[in-house]
Amino acid sequence: MLDKVLIANRGEIALRILRACHELGIKTVAVHSTVDEDLMHVRLADESVCIGPPSALQSYLNIPSIIAAAEITNTTAIHPGYGFLAESADFAEKVENSGFIFIGPKADTISLMGDKVSAIASMKKAGVPCVPGSDGPLGDDEAENKAIAKRIAYPIIIKASGGGGGKGMRVVRKESDLMDSIVLTRAEAKAAFNNDVVYMEKFLENPRHIEIQVLSDSHGNAIHLGERDCSMQRRHQKVVEEAPAPGITMETRKNIGERCVRACKDIQYRGAGTFEFLYEKGEFYFIEMNTRVQVEHPVSELITGIDIIKEQLRIAAGQPLSSKQADVTFSGHAIECRINAEDPKTFIPSPGKITRYHAPGGPGVRLDSHIYTGYTVPPNYDSMIGKLITYGENRDVAIARMQMALDEVMVDGIKTNIPLQRDILADSNFHRGGTNIHYLEKKLAEEDEE
Ligand code: ADP
Repeated sequence: MLDKVLIANRGEIALRILRACHELGIKTVAVHSTVDEDLMHVRLADESVCIGPPSALQSYLNIPSIIAAAEITNTTAIHPGYGFLAESADFAEKVENSGFIFIGPKADTISLMGDKVSAIASMKKAGVPCVPGSDGPLGDDEAENKAIAKRIAYPIIIKASGGGGGKGMRVVRKESDLMDSIVLTRAEAKAAFNNDVVYMEKFLENPRHIEIQVLSDSHGNAIHLGERDCSMQRRHQKVVEEAPAPGITMETRKNIGERCVRACKDIQYRGAGTFEFLYEKGEFYFIEMNTRVQVEHPVSELITGIDIIKEQLRIAAGQPLSSKQADVTFSGHAIECRINAEDPKTFIPSPGKITRYHAPGGPGVRLDSHIYTGYTVPPNYDSMIGKLITYGENRDVAIARMQMALDEVMVDGIKTNIPLQRDILADSNFHRGGTNIHYLEKKLAEEDEE
C-alpha cells in the first residue's frame, strides 16, 4: 500500500480522502492556504504544510508550492480531489516527473479527455454513443458550416472544445444566426480557454443528465458502478443527485455500463472516472468524461457498497480492483443534497462564522462535511460546505430520510440552501422522478413570479 498521501485539496473532499487513507493505514499530509489552517482535515492530518495565501491561484493551484510540500514531507502519492488541479494534465505530469504517484489517470489521458473534440472522437471509436455533430472542429467556410448544421438539423449548439464549467456554448435555432454564433463562440473560447477550437452538436431540448461511474486499474481490469441521475441543476451546477436513475432498467444500465467499460480499456484508463451523458427519449448521448472523483460519488458507494476513494488509493498503489463486474450488485436507493453557504433565494454566497451546528443522524444518513460550531466559512472558495446523503431500501425511503435529515440539520450564523433543498424534496414532480435538466430553473422562475 501507499505509505503517505498528500491531499492537494480542501473542505469536505479533503476530509473524505483523509478518512479513506487512515482507514487503510496510510499517513496523510494536508496542504492549506493561510485562511484554511482551521479546516477539520488539517487538524486530523499527520502533517500539514501551509502552501500560500488565500487566493487559490497562489495556494491550491500553485503547483511548485504543492510539489515542494510533497518533497519536504517525503510523500508517496498526491490525491488531487475534484476541482482545483484535479484535471490538470500539467499537474499530473509534474507530480509524476518529480517522483510522486499521481492518484488519477496518466497526464496524456487527462489531455485526451480534457479536449472535447478529441474526447468525442475517442469515444466514438470505442462505441460509446455521442450527440450527432460535426465530428471535429469547425472551419470558417460558411457553406460548409451551413451544410453540417443542415445535416444535424436545427436547433444546434456551438461548443468550445476546451470549454468547462458550462461556459463557451451557444444555441443556434436558425441558419441566419449560424455564422455570427460561430464567430462569437470562437472569440469567447479564445478569451476564456485560450483555445479557439469550436465544434457543433445537435441541441437536445429536454434531456436528463445521467452519468456512469467507472473504476479501472493498471492491470487491464475495468468495472462500472452503474449510473447517477444529476438532472436537478441550476446554471449547469448539480444540486441534487441520486442513484439509481429513476426508470433506468437493469438491462439499460448493463448496456451503457459495458460500453463505458470497453472505452476505459480502449484508452487504457487508470483510476476513477465518470462518463457524462445527456439522456433523451431512451437514448444516451456522451457529452464529456471527468477524469477524477466527483462530488456525487457517495450515492454510488451507498448502492454498491464499494468505497470509490479506497479503490483510487489501491489503484494508485498498483493493486488490482477489489471487485469484478460480476461481484457488483445494486441495491436500494441513495440521494445526495449539496449544502451550500448561500442565500436560498438569491444564491449569493454567504461566508462567515458558524455559530451553532447540529448534524442529523439515524439509519441511512451520511453527512460528508468539514464544518463544525465555531468554523468560519472563508469567502475565497466554492460555497459548498457539505453533502447530505441518505440511503433506503427504495427511493421513497431515501426521500423520507432526506426530508427528516433536512429538518434535523442546523447551521446557524450563515445562510444556507437548506430551505431550497427542503422545497425540492417536497416537490411532487421530484417524487415522481425523471425530471429533466431544465426543471429546477423553471420551477425557480415560476416561484419568482408568484
Ligand atoms: P462543461 O464542460 O462546460 O460542463 P458540458 O459539455 O458538460 O460542458 O455541458 C454542460 C451542460 O450544457 C450540459 O449538462 C447540458 O445542460 C448543456 N449541454 C451541453 N451540450 C448539450 C447539447 N448537445 N444539447 C443540450 N444541452 C447541452
